[in-house]
Amino acid sequence: MGDENTLTDLERSDEDCVLRFDDGESFTLSYVSIRSRCQCAKCKPRQENEQRILELEEEISRLMLEKPKVELVGRYGVRFEWPTGCSSGIHSFSHLRKVCEELGKSLSQ
Ligand SMILES: [Zn+2]
Repeated sequence: MGDENTLTDLERSDEDCVLRFDDGESFTLSYVSIRSRCQCAKCKPRQENEQRILELEEEISRLMLEKPKVELVGRYGVRFEWPTGCSSGIHSFSHLRKVCEELGKSLSQ
């Protein structure tokens, strides 16, 4: 069995990306979803309750989210470089998998 917390591929489109994991699962995930779960020091406190998450999502959805640059960080995460800022957060593979399960669209049956 592959590891569900190992990202094997990330394919970027204009508004979302496809993430494939070592266990064979793949998901489509929008950039809005990724950013609304950003783990950086600035965004994380804004996810402490439902109300703040809604505000954060609303703010992000108003931004013109352009295709980010993606950089691999070691063997455990990726860093997205957003043209609209907030590029310091590292998204670990296990975190991305959780976001995929919660907000993504599974491409497997
Ligand atoms: Zn952030």
